[in-house]
Amino acid sequence: MSTAGTESKPSPISGLGLFATRGFMAGERIAPYGGVRLNAPPDVRTPGQPTFLLEIEPGLWLDGSASDNPARHANHSCLPNAELILDTTAGHPWLVAIGPIAATEEITFDYGFSLAESLFHPCKCGTKDCVGRIIATPLRPALRRHLRFSRRRD
Ligand SMILES: [Zn+2]
Repeated sequence: MSTAGTESKPSPISGLGLFATRGFMAGERIAPYGGVRLNAPPDVRTPGQPTFLLEIEPGLWLDGSASDNPARHANHSCLPNAELILDTTAGHPWLVAIGPIAATEEITFDYGFSLAESLFHPCKCGTKDCVGRIIATPLRPALRRHLRFSRRRD
């Protein structure tokens, strides 16, 4: 499935990924992220399952699992090239390029998971600074400390 400028295909990170089929400029909208808005916290995400539930602003969640939302294939990365920005007029977020994105590049963003959620969701983004878990950028130093103290050193 593809929309203008993107296509979904197998990703080295996880499952199907969202890939650029043309170049994008910094700040350019890549694809809308459609879904059902939830005003209450959803049930805990199922460990090991792909998740399309995102807290797009405090107290507002979005379930992007519908098949007519190709942007749901965008994977998490510890060094993302896109971010999810809520369009309050349209009522849904957009994936927006953080910097220039080349055609064929995989489009990734920060899923913004909590520390608790991150423990069930390994990250395989493959970037140099990957913390090994899907977790919000501001929480990464806390996770690194947690892993340092909970792992046996060898
Ligand atoms: Zn990572």
